[in-house]
Amino acid sequence: KQLAVTGVQALHPYQPGKPIEELERELGISNILKLASNENPLGASPQAQAALTAALKTLELYPDGSGYQLKQAIAEKFGLHSNQITLGNGSNDVLELIARAFLDNQRAAVISEHAFAVYQIVTQAVGAELQIAKANPADHQTMPYGHNLANLAAKITDKTRVVFIANPNNPTGTWLSTTALHSFLQRAPSDVIVVLDEAYTEYVQEVEFPNALTWLEEFPNLIVTRTFSKIYGLAGLRVGYAVSNPVIADLLNRVRQPFNVNSLALAAAQAALADDAFLERSVDTNAAGLVQWRAACAENGWEYIPTVGNFITVDMQRPAAPLYDALLREGVIVRPIGGYGLPQHLRITIGTTAQNTRCIEALKKVLAA
Ligand code: PMP
Repeated sequence: KQLAVTGVQALHPYQPGKPIEELERELGISNILKLASNENPLGASPQAQAALTAALKTLELYPDGSGYQLKQAIAEKFGLHSNQITLGNGSNDVLELIARAFLDNQRAAVISEHAFAVYQIVTQAVGAELQIAKANPADHQTMPYGHNLANLAAKITDKTRVVFIANPNNPTGTWLSTTALHSFLQRAPSDVIVVLDEAYTEYVQEVEFPNALTWLEEFPNLIVTRTFSKIYGLAGLRVGYAVSNPVIADLLNRVRQPFNVNSLALAAAQAALADDAFLERSVDTNAAGLVQWRAACAENGWEYIPTVGNFITVDMQRPAAPLYDALLREGVIVRPIGGYGLPQHLRITIGTTAQNTRCIEALKKVLAA
């Protein structure tokens, strides 16, 4: 007999990379450099590590199921009320809560081409329809491959209940300006939830970049999601959050697992949030790395998509998969993004100066081979 499954057979699972130890064994090399998952090259905040050690003493206890202290700390830091915050097991978990609360097989979600893969997975997993808007074309003057807000708006129908927008977007690094996004929100139907995924927002140094948390009162249908996986360096612990109107937070809380964020993650995230020095170092390291990468691209004639995140997506102008393999043999892991409709691009996480140099040299070598 066949297993009776719902629409899940049509899903394309998120493709994580192989464990580094496994790759090192397979390739017979050591000291692999992973610049493939937009992780923080400085590690985790020392304060978070200390909090983690302290939290190890109470592993027998369930975590605080409401995440009271972490929500309080987030609320204080950003001038919010804690009833606006929903914690998740990574922001992916929050994205899933949104899909479960607002989508079903009668409804649809709008996303852009080249958008973060998880929007598609959480939408299709609840049987909802995906409405995919064309992104900007490759020859767009300012933001090639970026989300196109007019196209996103045009895709909204009576069925649409959620629009997922990443700002900046992964895997492109492209972004939407304050004015453009604000006018999109003004025009979006009030019964459509607009999710602004700000996983990389702390890295952005552009002037014309929104602080969407200040828009929550104006737009009761807005949800902003953020994560501790990137600038806070806690990807392994899985903690992220949504900020919204309290009515939406209440709905998300109804579909949330009671202990979705574990006690170690709660403790470390709270400490990381307070570690401004680490945050500043991370921002500075990334800014310097972007300068280094842009210079290397200019010097070598490599085209790249404009980025304000902690990664740069380079147009290899030939199939990128063999280059990915060749870089791997040089001991550098980057991310091929054919699955995102960009088969000639490689997405490379910005590392420390030394890591960037190693990757740039490896790229030169494999391109010359
Ligand atoms: N949104 C975007 C745009 C991302 O790139 C990522 C991480 N790849 C996430 C959300 C999810 O991050 P996490 O679940 O680790 O919080």
